[in-house]
Amino acid sequence: MNTSKKCPKCDCSHLEKFSGSKSSHGSRSFIRLSLFTFVIVDKIVCMDCGHCEEWVSPRGLTILRSKRGYGASR
Ligand SMILES: [Zn+2]
Repeated sequence: MNTSKKCPKCDCSHLEKFSGSKSSHGSRSFIRLSLFTFVIVDKIVCMDCGHCEEWVSPRGLTILRSKRGYGASR
């Protein structure tokens, strides 16, 4: 859904991305790893059926992988 630009449930293309880094409306979303380390999570919502997915940014994914021992090469 993040790259296909189509909803997997209803197959429409009316997708809106809500960045987790924006603190407006208190919609800030993230995964906290430690006191000072957290990864922003973006939400993508289908405006037709309401299906919602959450995506970690590529930069955040790099942090998560290193924290969980997946290595940078994967
Ligand atoms: Zn949909």
